[in-house]
Amino acid sequence: MLPNFNHVRPATLPEAIRALSQPGARAHSGGTDLLGCLRDRVFEATTVVSLAGLAELKGIERTRDGSLRIGALTTLAEIARNPEITADYPALAQGAAAAASPQLRNQGTLGGNICQRPRCWYFRGDFDCARKNGELCFAENGENQYHAIFGGHGCHIVHPSDTAPALVALEAIATLAGPKGKRRVPFSKFFVLPAVDHKRETVLAPGEILTEVVIPKAPKGARGSYRKLRSRGSWDFALTGLASSIVFEGNKVERAILVLSGVAPIPWRVPEAEKMLAGNPLDLTAVRAAGEAAVRGAAPLAQNSYKIELVKGIIEEALLAL
Ligand SMILES: Cc1cc2nc3c(=O)[nH]c(=O)nc-3n(C[C@H](O)[C@H](O)[C@H](O)COP(=O)(O)OP(=O)(O)OC[C@H]3O[C@@H](n4cnc5c(N)ncnc54)[C@H](O)[C@@H]3O)c2cc1C
Repeated sequence: MLPNFNHVRPATLPEAIRALSQPGARAHSGGTDLLGCLRDRVFEATTVVSLAGLAELKGIERTRDGSLRIGALTTLAEIARNPEITADYPALAQGAAAAASPQLRNQGTLGGNICQRPRCWYFRGDFDCARKNGELCFAENGENQYHAIFGGHGCHIVHPSDTAPALVALEAIATLAGPKGKRRVPFSKFFVLPAVDHKRETVLAPGEILTEVVIPKAPKGARGSYRKLRSRGSWDFALTGLASSIVFEGNKVERAILVLSGVAPIPWRVPEAEKMLAGNPLDLTAVRAAGEAAVRGAAPLAQNSYKIELVKGIIEEALLAL
């Protein structure tokens, strides 16, 4: 059962920021993640602040410089079927289409998808783990088959979002509005590793709202995709996924950005793998070298070393398909 909380629905951004700056206030977009967390007592809320009335968070439009602005309240279903996103930013459209189930994509928003809390069963369960009020990461010596093989440091969650890796690969920028005004943060700097702070997943400060995502104009010769591997074909979170953004010069790769999902506490960029592609045709030799480079430095736990092979496999499969 949901606990009791106050519910407010501000009509303007300043009002929403004021409401969210109060201790114990939580933002509510589609509610598909928030309400489950409150019901399961993952965290508490004294006030739930609905963002649904905020016009600034709505709509998809081209800006004058050819970038695409997507309001944070845009649903995953709208993103998956938007003609400009499917044509120019297929990695994002495919990430949105791969998330959750049709019902959840109709209700869940881009902002909520990016800011959703981790799915680790210790964090979500009745455990006072390091990400809550405790000191231990129970996955370290516990059931860790779905946990991180990169970037775990006292907490081994994986980042659950299927759109966030695409936004990093597309060099998108978040606009955040809070008590101190607006700021723009590239998605490459938006997510927080446990080594920096294991209590939060993003740089959002108290009272701050993610209002929009801006994706730069796609460069000439750019291609990309999001491929996701999961345990079952219906809805499920990624065991691993790959968002790619590759600029071709003739038949050679000029520049590649590769970002993995399901393997680290943040969308995990693999620069050493990207270097293996630059200057080469996207052939079997290059993609296999990229796969090997991507997993160098992996630190699997007792039950998740299978993810190393998944990463190599998804890089080969997704890039050859491009
Ligand atoms: C059964 C199930 C399966 C799922 N499968 C997947 C999956 O495969 N892939 C995937 O990526 N996701 C998955 N999800 C997660 C998620 O619920 C949805 O993807 C959805 O996009 C979340 O959006 P929302 O608008 O409902 O977020 P909400 O539930 O409203 O919010 C989620 C969190 O983000 C915060 N928040 C929301 N909007 C903002 C904002 N604009 N600014 C700042 N903070 C904000 C909230 O306070 C809350 O903590 C799944 C969820 C469920 C229940």
